[in-house]
Amino acid sequence: MTAVRAEAVAGSPWTARQRLVLAVFQVLGVAGLIAGYLGTSGTLRLSRQVVWVNVAGAALLVSGAGVTVFLTAGRRAVGRRRLGLFGDVREGRGATVHPDPGPGTATDLVAATAMTKYHRGDCSFVDGKVVTAATAAEHEQGGRRPCGVCLPEGAS
Ligand SMILES: [Zn+2]
Repeated sequence: MTAVRAEAVAGSPWTARQRLVLAVFQVLGVAGLIAGYLGTSGTLRLSRQVVWVNVAGAALLVSGAGVTVFLTAGRRAVGRRRLGLFGDVREGRGATVHPDPGPGTATDLVAATAMTKYHRGDCSFVDGKVVTAATAAEHEQGGRRPCGVCLPEGAS
């Protein structure tokens, strides 16, 4: 499947071939369920019914396997596309802090303009956001309260 990658359908993570494989698995699954229904509905013999119930169960497994393969392929394609667009984003985490213009107020307490709480610079709530550094008193004058997760009031 990966040796010759078929052309992806525009806007979709799946190739036409992967869609076809899914359709084949689903047709097999539905056919097995219909066969199981027809096989069990015409008889009162338990031994005959068990065989057809097993056929229907196998059909469900085939259908589920097809869906699993399909979704896994789509997830991989989305991951490849994301890597191509953004690269490995695990590096460079953390907030972008604008330097504090005030004299002698250097601190790692930050907040964005729309935030109601202020945070430590390494708090996950400000991860990747553009924030401004200020002292705790300045943040509280602006109506902000300390974050309950990173507990910036304990900061020096
Ligand atoms: Zn926080």
